[in-house]
Amino acid sequence: MAKNVSDLNSKIWLSAPHMSGHEEKFIKEAFNTNWIAPLGPNVNGFEKDLETYLGNNVHVAALTTGTAAIHMALLLLNVTTNDEVICQTKTFAASVNPVTYLGAKPVFVDSEKDTWNMCPDLLEQAIKNRINQGNKPKAIIVINLYGMPHKVKEIKNISNTYHIPIIEDSAEALGSSYFNDKCGTFGDLSVLSFNGNKIITTSGGGALVSKHIHTKEKAIFLATQAKEAGLEYTHKTVGYNYRMSNILAGIGRGQMEVLETYVRLRRKNHQYYLEHLNDIKDIRFLKEPEGFFSNRWLSCIQLSSQSMRDQLLMLLQKHNIEARPSWKPMHLQPVFRDYPSYLNGVSEHIYKTVLCLPSGSNLTTKERNRIVTTIRSYFG
Ligand SMILES: *Cc1c(COP(=O)(O)O)cnc(C)c1O
Repeated sequence: MAKNVSDLNSKIWLSAPHMSGHEEKFIKEAFNTNWIAPLGPNVNGFEKDLETYLGNNVHVAALTTGTAAIHMALLLLNVTTNDEVICQTKTFAASVNPVTYLGAKPVFVDSEKDTWNMCPDLLEQAIKNRINQGNKPKAIIVINLYGMPHKVKEIKNISNTYHIPIIEDSAEALGSSYFNDKCGTFGDLSVLSFNGNKIITTSGGGALVSKHIHTKEKAIFLATQAKEAGLEYTHKTVGYNYRMSNILAGIGRGQMEVLETYVRLRRKNHQYYLEHLNDIKDIRFLKEPEGFFSNRWLSCIQLSSQSMRDQLLMLLQKHNIEARPSWKPMHLQPVFRDYPSYLNGVSEHIYKTVLCLPSGSNLTTKERNRIVTTIRSYFG
């Protein structure tokens, strides 16, 4: 009896880690061979797995976090004090924080409605306006929000026209693709995250994806304290301690074996919500435009009003179901609100009306049913 009750009310998480059982063999091997260090065969193996998966001849450097990878990307593009970097305002703060580590300034650009990612028209307006003010942006950080690819072709055209490189923050979009090319290959530099809540995880981890082997080598050099060759400790530049450990990379190798399965499972969650909630006129779903394939890292529903969203959020909380509003836009954040922003209202509207639902690849049918039943009970 007591067991039943606790089953009935057990917490359903938004996006929990999901170990496959394939991880431990790589970790055991690391212990057996004493590779307990921020280098080793698992690090190289994990990078190779990612390079093979992403295709397009990319080169991957495994790092401590996605945030470190964004910092590294900005360093490699020589972003420095007083430079301006264009950032998608609709994102998690980790996309923007590293800009300020370098003394550079974020300039925020709003989203379009089809993908919730950076609006190409507004991006071009922002670039022209910044150039007119005598400060040409040094880079553009674009996101694949909740796994949905950004408008790759349109953003790339603008990047080419104005010769401003793109950093693609694909932290949420490993497994997504755009006209059959994988997300994480579209930036001049791209970033992945393996944080505990992402589609695959190393508990904490990230990667920098680049087009050239020498960029990867430079990233690894900077990420290992920028120590010059030779036995003496000689440093000509400031370095960082950002390399992924061989233990965590072992988890990553095990997770890579199930990535495709996890993409399928996350998409299945989304499909389930769609099938069981689609008839409610106050709920809308973000569709994939033609050629866009989302890993559906988080399944989101958009409600007709903010009060409805808030009430639903509270109801789910009461039933021990973790749901969340979507990321609060960066231009609304107390820490960033004095920076310039180019707005159209889209990100604020999404922020107020969207609810992210439990989306883990380890959700059970029973749990999904409990979530849908709770949501339906609100609409009577
Ligand atoms: C998770 C996330 C990051 C940060 O990755 P960490 O590995 O946690 O540092 C960056 N950008 C976005 C959009 C994210 O969702």
